[in-house]
This record gives sequence, structure tokens and C-alpha cells, in this order.
Amino acid sequence: DRLVSGQVQEPADEGVEANRLRPTRLADYVGQEPIHNQLEVFIAAARARREALDHVLLFGPPGLGKTTLAHIVAHEMGVGLRQTSGPVLERPGDLAAILTNLQPNDVLFIDEIHRLSPVVEEILYPAMEDCQLDIVIGEGPAARSIKLDLPPFTLVGATTRAGLLTSPLRDRFGIVLRLEFYTTPELARIVTRSAGILGVASEPDAIGAIAGRSRGTPRIANRLLRRARDFAEIKGNGTLTADIVAAALRMLEVDEQGFDVLDRKLLRTVIEKFGGGPVGVDSLAAAIGEERGTIEDVIEPFLIQQGFLMRTPRGRLATATAWRHFGITPPAGSDP
Ligand code: ADP
Repeated sequence: DRLVSGQVQEPADEGVEANRLRPTRLADYVGQEPIHNQLEVFIAAARARREALDHVLLFGPPGLGKTTLAHIVAHEMGVGLRQTSGPVLERPGDLAAILTNLQPNDVLFIDEIHRLSPVVEEILYPAMEDCQLDIVIGEGPAARSIKLDLPPFTLVGATTRAGLLTSPLRDRFGIVLRLEFYTTPELARIVTRSAGILGVASEPDAIGAIAGRSRGTPRIANRLLRRARDFAEIKGNGTLTADIVAAALRMLEVDEQGFDVLDRKLLRTVIEKFGGGPVGVDSLAAAIGEERGTIEDVIEPFLIQQGFLMRTPRGRLATATAWRHFGITPPAGSDP
């Protein structure tokens, strides 16, 4: 049970409340400045021309705000949004049904777009490029191909890594945006806003403590806030204090770096079972009992960004910082 999963929807236990915390306007979307600046200009220009915004590809680890941005794009453009995901669209007809029901300039959001099947992806190319739907109806000798005009629309695709997409698909996006992990001050702004929406009284130190231990990820920050609120209501007087947050984080086994059980398991395995590495990602996956994709998309991006893990041609390598994190002296000759 991880704080962040690759799931499309917010986990059921927090769906409704998590959706209340989702900003709907670009002005409320914290951080990601380059993305913010670009979208502001591109949306204003498309609106002024009364055209659909060009197709947008968003990539970055889960929980950084890709779904939120898709909703913001639709809201700021003043158009409708249809949401689906790569694995859900099994047959060409599934996608055709959605495309033919779009209103002009609508946003179609496809999460996990790298998981589209090749036959469905083929339908997408002429739709994205020429607003054309080419589809074969029927089978055998009775099969016939039909062409339909589609309304102009904006495809917003989300994926954890841009490299997972086929290049014909990637090339059809006019706007490609990469989301970065958030800084602690940015996360503090998000947690402050969320605490306001949820009506949680808090001390500034408490907000800072949550922000600093959220793995650079708004979804985790909001989740830690909700769990700390539970703790404050049951063990305290309802107000979030630094002590309450510290106790809640201890209970959740989040350490002072914001690492959770899985982060530590991965790092300890590299250090203790593989002498610090380099170890191939498949061996590592087998050793910790997780899928390779989970390591690559969910666990390691933050460890790499924080300088605890390195990706080398021969595999993953724990840095001296990682050894010291566990109170172990790094081997002589390792990085400073
Ligand atoms: P992704 O689609 O990348 O997995 P989401 O868009 O679902 O991530 O974001 C997870 C949660 O984090 C959302 O519910 C939203 O409340 C919050 N969030 C994400 N990005 C931001 C942001 N830039 N500003 C404020 N809240 C954010």
C-alpha cells in the first residue's frame, strides 16, 4: 500500500476529498513555472483564434499534477473534458465512440497513453492530424472502411516517461511538457491551500514538516495532510502542530527525507545485497518483489533526483549519501 500508485483515479478512500483539492484554474496551480508560462500563452492565443488548443503531451512521475492540468486546460479554454486511459481503450471502436461524441474544441484526456494498443493508436493518428476518423466496420468480405469528419479537439496525453511512447505518436503533439518534482516551499503553498479547503487549523511548522516529507509530490503532500489531520483529531485537539505531524509521520513510517518503506527497501537492497551496485533493474525488481515499471516510474525518479541513487549503463548505484542515510560507512573510493 504505497503513498503513490500508478493508478488513473485517486484511490477510492480519498476520491471525493482529493477532487475538492484539485485546482481548476491555472492561477491556483502551484509551481511548474515553465509549464504555467507556456500554457498561459498558448491557451490565450487559441482562445483568441477560437480554435482548439494544439495537442498536449504531459510526462512525469505519478501525483505531480498531470490530470489536474488536463482539467485546467479544459476549464481555461471553456470547453468540455472527456477522460479515459490507454488500457481501457481495448478496441478501435472504443476510441471511435468517444471521438465522434466530442463537441468542437473539447479536450480528450488519455492517461497512461503509452499503454494504448497499436490498433487503437493507428486510429488516433489521422484523428490528431486531420480530424479524420478511418475505421473498418464489419469483418471478412462484408468489411468496409468508412471515413468520418471529426470536430477539432485537443488531445491531452499523460505518461510517466516520454520515452515510452512510439515516435509517430510523440511527434503528433504540438506541446510537450515535462513535470518536475516540487520544491518544499511550493508544496507548503499547496498544503496551506488544502488545509484551508479542508478547514484544518494548523501551525506553520506543521505545514513545513508535511511539505518537506512529501517526496516532492502534491498527491503525497495532500495525503499526509489528511492523515495528520486524523491524528490531530484523535490524539490532539484538532490543530495540526509540529509534534502531531512528527508523530503521524512516524506512524506512517515516513523518514526525515520523506522516504517511505519501499524507498528504504530499494536503497537497502542495493547496498546490502548488491554491495552498493551497480545492479541491473531486473535483478533489483526480483530482489525487492516489485515490477520493473514500478521501480522505474514510481520509486527511483525521486531517489535519483535527491542524489541517493544513480542510473548508470551497468545498472543502479547507491551514492555515498544513501549509505550514510542508513548510518553505514560508504566503501572507500565511492563518490563524496
Ligand atoms: P497525476 O495525474 O500526475 O498523477 P494529479 O493531477 O492527479 O497527478 O495530482 C494529484 C493531486 O495533487 C491532485 O488531486 C491535486 O489536488 C494535487 N496537485 C497536483 N498538482 C498540483 C499543483 N500544481 N498545485 C496544487 N495542487 C496540485
